[in-house]
Order: sequence, then structure tokens, then C-alpha cells
Amino acid sequence: MDGTKVPPRSAAVELAGLLDSPEIGRLITELEETRWTGRPGYPLRAMVGMALAKSMYSIPTWTRAVALVHEHAALREAIGGSGEPPSHWACYRFARKLRAYSDLLDACIARVLDRLRDERPEFGRDLAIDASDLPAYANGQRYLSKNGPERKRFPDPDASWGHRSAVSTRKGGGFYGFKVHAAICARTDLPVAWQVETAGSHESNYVASLLDVARSRGFAADTTALDMGYDNNRVYAECEDRDSRPIIPLRETVGVKRGDHRPPECEHGTWTFAGSDHSRGASKWRCPTGECKPASRWIKADRLHPLVPRETKRWKSLYRGRGSVEREFGRLKNEWALLPLRVRGIERVRLHADLTILAKLGCALARERATVTCAA
Ligand SMILES: [Zn+2]
Repeated sequence: MDGTKVPPRSAAVELAGLLDSPEIGRLITELEETRWTGRPGYPLRAMVGMALAKSMYSIPTWTRAVALVHEHAALREAIGGSGEPPSHWACYRFARKLRAYSDLLDACIARVLDRLRDERPEFGRDLAIDASDLPAYANGQRYLSKNGPERKRFPDPDASWGHRSAVSTRKGGGFYGFKVHAAICARTDLPVAWQVETAGSHESNYVASLLDVARSRGFAADTTALDMGYDNNRVYAECEDRDSRPIIPLRETVGVKRGDHRPPECEHGTWTFAGSDHSRGASKWRCPTGECKPASRWIKADRLHPLVPRETKRWKSLYRGRGSVEREFGRLKNEWALLPLRVRGIERVRLHADLTILAKLGCALARERATVTCAA
């Protein structure tokens, strides 16, 4: 993404642009139509504005987001409140309303993704799937104190202990909370599907549902890159069933130690890859000199012999694309305030993730449009 053509815009201007965009404007209108009677509330544009500002300014809590808007005239103007900006109580009520109308929020996210695909036709063609830790806003320690009694109540009943792998900046280990599972576009680094689950459940259980959500949003990915933690027969089948080629490195299983995954060999040397037939579900391999009879044969695709063989340049380049998912988790956590969590309960954490990613995608779309306008 070449951002250099775009003049820097203030976040307040960017926020006003998002609220005025047809994709998010429709969410505001649809929420207005559901407005419950009785309590006179703040304009919904201001409430959606508060929710997006929270992510754009990387603010973990509603209380601090409200304080920022109070002090910031340009922001107040952007969210369009002529009177007092919303209170943090109004924000809590709004969050509850959004959870109740999650279908409207989902539809808004789908609209933004749709427009992004119009701008970038390659968007979502190659996906990378992974999971990342979201430590809970709660204490998961088993004991109340060292050598003390066992804790009876956990403040977040939906959180659980899970394991995270090491990254460059910290060690791996156990953590208490949730995991966000996501399918990221390897070419644009933008999320197309995501799902928050309790930390204790294994990541390989969510590949099928992530690919299904991606497909329901119009992303039929040619390939899906995953790390070795996803290397099992079920994940291969789930990707192939959805017509997406799995790109996964091999774990050292018994068959791999035996060399079952290696290409065929003959007296003339190691056979070479000669293309795959997706409808047939097999790859073709050829004797290096062509002297064998027959000189080539088909190998049925499975975990050991995927349709994009691990020996090929294409596989290596697609697997490098997996870096996109780690980069995007880093950005969402550090620049868009996906962390630290300051809500408890999986439904609230899910809403928080949805709003964070919507803000990010909305800004990406606004920048795409600005680039097109500047270039024209
Ligand atoms: Zn041969």
C-alpha cells in the first residue's frame, strides 16, 4: 500500500470522513431505526463516533475516550454533537445496544470489506490464518496468594488458560484470557474474518469457520497459509473442501520421519513436479530424464503431498505471506488498542475486537479512496 501520495490528515478529519461514508452512515441510520423509546439519548452518529475514536486514538477505556473528546474541540466537531459530548454511561449503554444488534454491525463490516475489494481486486485472494493471545482484564491465578487458598471465583467466567508461542519480543508461555483467530489478506495485511474464543481452545478448530465467514463476505481465497500448529489432516481437508490450497509446513510425524512426504525417486534421480489438477485432486510428478515407463504419474493430494508442493517456489513465497498475520496482530494490538482489554466476558471482548477492526478497515478504505482521488 503506497501511502506517500496521501497528505497527512488529522485523525479528527479522518473520523468525520468515516462517519460521513456511506458504509458507516448506513449503520448509523439502521441503529436509529431501532431506537428504543423512552430515554432521550445522544445522537447515534456521536455514539458511533466515540466507538471509532476510541480505536483511532488507541484508548483502552470509554472513560478516557470521553475525557479526550471533552478536551478536544476538533473531535467534538467531528462526531457532530452540538451539545455536550456523550457521557461514559451513554457509551456503556451504546455498547450494550451494539451487542444486541450485532447483525447490523456485521453487515457494516461486510460493506466496508466489499468496498475495499472494489478498490483492491487482489484483496483476500491469498489468506494467512493464525491466532493471538488477548490476556483477560481479570486475574487467572489459581491461588489467592503464594501457598494460600485456591481461588474460588474467577472475575471473567469466559476466560481460560491458554498457551502462546514465543515471538521476537517475548517468551512463550501460559496466559489467562482469550484468543483472537483471524484470516488476514497476505497481500494487503488487512483482516477479512476474525473470531474471539476462550484461550484454552485449540486454534486449529477455527480454520473452517474463518474460511466460511470469509466466503460469506465474498472472499474465496485461492490459498491459505498456516503455521505448523495447524498441520493435521482435518485442516487440509477443511481448506480443500472450500477450494483453498493449504500452505502448511510439515510436523515431524512418523510418516515424515520415514520420508513418506518425499517426491518419487527412480534410478534417474528425484522426480520433478509437473503441475496439479484441482478437480482431480492430484499432482503430477515426472521422471527427471523421462526414461521411465510411464514417465510421469499422479499422486493423490493429502497432507504429505499437497497440491502446491512444499518443494516449489510458489509454496515458499505463499508461506512467506504468513508474516502478514503476525504483523497485523501487532498493529491491531499496539496501534489500534486491541490490547489491553478493559472489558470482561466474551461478548464484550468480541464487540471490542469488531469495533477495533472496523475502525482499522474504515481508515484503510478512506485512504484507498483518497489515493485514487489524488492520483486522478
Ligand atoms: Zn526415471
